[in-house]
Amino acid sequence: MDLGLSNEERSFRDRVRRVIEERIAPRFPEWREKDTTPRELFEIFGSEMMLGFGREGDAIVPVPWLQNIHLYRELSKLSGGLGIATFVQANLGNEAFYLFGSKEQKKEYLGPGIEGKRLFAFANTEPSAGSDASAIKLTAEEKGDHYLVNGMKAYITSADLADDIIFTAVTGPTSEKQHRRVSMFITPGDTEGLTRTRLKKYGWKGSHLCTLNFEDVIVPKENLLGQKGRGFYQTMELFNNGRIGVSSLAFGAALGAFEHAYGHAVKRKAFGRTLFEHESKTYEFSENIARLQAGWLLIQKAAYEADSGRDFKHYASLAKLFNTEEGMKITLWGVITMGARGVIVQNPISDYPHDSIVSLIGEGAPEVQKKVIAQNLDSILGAL
Ligand SMILES: Cc1cc2nc3c(=O)[nH]c(=O)nc-3n(C[C@H](O)[C@H](O)[C@H](O)COP(=O)(O)OP(=O)(O)OC[C@H]3O[C@@H](n4cnc5c(N)ncnc54)[C@H](O)[C@@H]3O)c2cc1C
Repeated sequence: MDLGLSNEERSFRDRVRRVIEERIAPRFPEWREKDTTPRELFEIFGSEMMLGFGREGDAIVPVPWLQNIHLYRELSKLSGGLGIATFVQANLGNEAFYLFGSKEQKKEYLGPGIEGKRLFAFANTEPSAGSDASAIKLTAEEKGDHYLVNGMKAYITSADLADDIIFTAVTGPTSEKQHRRVSMFITPGDTEGLTRTRLKKYGWKGSHLCTLNFEDVIVPKENLLGQKGRGFYQTMELFNNGRIGVSSLAFGAALGAFEHAYGHAVKRKAFGRTLFEHESKTYEFSENIARLQAGWLLIQKAAYEADSGRDFKHYASLAKLFNTEEGMKITLWGVITMGARGVIVQNPISDYPHDSIVSLIGEGAPEVQKKVIAQNLDSILGAL
């Protein structure tokens, strides 16, 4: 493994930086003020083939994770909200169609999805089932040529913006094992009987978080995504990939906070010298850059294992656990280093600690990551 950047990774990272600087950052203050995710964001990344997939001739091919991590890291430095919205479109929505879609579904959804012209949300969580992702209760009852869907989903990103919602539902009898009772479906966002309500939240500002209420929603049988009874396993496959993405978002917030704090500390004077010249502060920078370096290596390791086609879920969990927990400390420290300016809402650094908290919870809380790591200790140890 070469720990430096390959030419492709460097060129992707530079292109990401250019797109953000030239096409996103100038519009961002207006979007931030409105606390929304504009469709334009997806059209911009879609036109650059940065929504998780590119094209090689007629074929749609995934962007390697060693490149994707740069997109989420750079975007999250500007805005975690735009970062998570992009991630949901690219690596939950598009990815679900890429991995599980039929030929017809790929044509209908994936093609426009990677161009940012058709927007998706992914809904598994419910009021009574989050970390315990297989414990969902929303039901899809088979009725001839369709399913009748009833129940609730909660805390779903972009659900009120999405043209189509990918969701999981119980299709098997209660006698069946919990993990095998779940299937995955697609429904248009504006379908009859579906109510979408945006929640007020803090963190990942600009992204929309919603509840979904299904009341006798009719879903045609051809809208089953993947195999009947495999919905839980398909969700876990998406979440394993997703943990690399959310680690990169958490890392981006921490790096952004560090850079802001550093820029400030070398200029701001207190007690006759710059903050950075106070030894105790200097050492905090050393400690935090060590955390950042370690965190980035863990993300690269998970991305490398994923791109190599090996079992990477434990590395994704290591990266998520470390980067979200350490990220919380670094973002908070960054704000404190800025003093009062750090808590002024106009100052984007004030968003970072909030972004850290939500990235700790989304795509699996720390305890869930520890569970995955503990189940794979021998494998991690054996490879050291
Ligand atoms: C901003 C945001 C965006 C989200 N977007 C989406 C989305 O697009 N789609 C989607 O489906 N979901 C989404 N989620 C939901 C997210 O996946 C869940 O919030 C997460 O899985 C945790 O579930 P929960 O909130 O029900 O918490 P719970 O499962 O109730 O857990 C609460 C806490 O209990 C502890 N805990 C949980 N399990 C264990 C255990 N085994 N041992 C010890 N302690 C434990 C953890 O500290 C955890 O934080 C989003 C959440 C947020 C905050």
